[in-house]
Amino acid sequence: MSEAKPRIRFVDNLVFLGFHAATAVLVALAGVSWGAVAFMALMYALIMFGITAGYHRYFSHRSFRTSRAFQFVLALLGTLAIQKGVLWWAAHHRRHHRESDQEGDVHSPVRRGFWWSHVGWIMSPDFMETDFDGIKDMARYPELRWLNQHFILPFVAMCVLVNFTLGFQYLVWGCFVSTICLWHATFCINSMAHLVGRRVYETTDQSRNNVLLALMTHGEGWHNNHHYYAASVRQGFRWWQIDLSYMVLCALEAFGIVWGLKRPSPEVVDGWVGGKDHLIARRPLPERPAAPAPAMAPAAAAAVVAVAAVAPLGAAPPAPVEAPPAAPTACE
Ligand SMILES: [Zn+2]
Ligand SMILES: [Zn+2]
Repeated sequence: MSEAKPRIRFVDNLVFLGFHAATAVLVALAGVSWGAVAFMALMYALIMFGITAGYHRYFSHRSFRTSRAFQFVLALLGTLAIQKGVLWWAAHHRRHHRESDQEGDVHSPVRRGFWWSHVGWIMSPDFMETDFDGIKDMARYPELRWLNQHFILPFVAMCVLVNFTLGFQYLVWGCFVSTICLWHATFCINSMAHLVGRRVYETTDQSRNNVLLALMTHGEGWHNNHHYYAASVRQGFRWWQIDLSYMVLCALEAFGIVWGLKRPSPEVVDGWVGGKDHLIARRPLPERPAAPAPAMAPAAAAAVVAVAAVAPLGAAPPAPVEAPPAAPTACE
């Protein structure tokens, strides 16, 4: 294998590692209550939406459109998960799709193992910087660049606010425990979603659909669907593939807060059509059943026979006609 040996400097990651240990100690000190657990679940759901709908489906893949104000709200929500800045996250994720499970993939469990893909690459000095060239379209917004650089501030502000309004126990569960859960649920998409689950589409990577991961991450576990057709805002292609973030985006669309949601056509879902945005990998297309020939008027049929009779042998066949894009599927 030609990859350089992965480097991890633990001393550079004492805050990240210490956060786990500190959370365990704080939970022991604060105790637990139903209210605190409910608040943790609420914060988890809210911030997970910032990661899935914001960091991932909007900033990384541009799979829907929104106003500049709501764009900032999405970035802010995602930033509360302290998974570094929005531009850092999206640029690295785009690279993951370009080179998924290939040599240049930053977090491939297939090439470098589970722990590297789960947390190792985040702790490596090789991937600390934001690749602004990989996210030029979003880096042109000064407010996003500011947020990307000061990604820790919203989290600190949230902690102060929760502590002084709801108290220490809510701080521990709503800000610390929820953050640990958000981290590892997200990291599981980089690790487990390329290792465990079912492959529906024959992509060039090892992405998999995994219902447990989909429930944990509000739809991101349909990862094989996503690598197959990354432009789609909807990752649970089938009605039974629960995709909570997509459902919320549909609701926001009804209120005009987001628009231009890119949905996969039925042909894409059935695997007949590959995507065209280079963020996807084609599957070998199955043999498509021949459509019944349209009825032809006798005069037209005679003309075709006459043309065929004079056409030279070995003439090039007619160019294949590309199927028009099918109508988008509605929210289900
Ligand atoms: Zn993606
Ligand atoms: Zn992936």
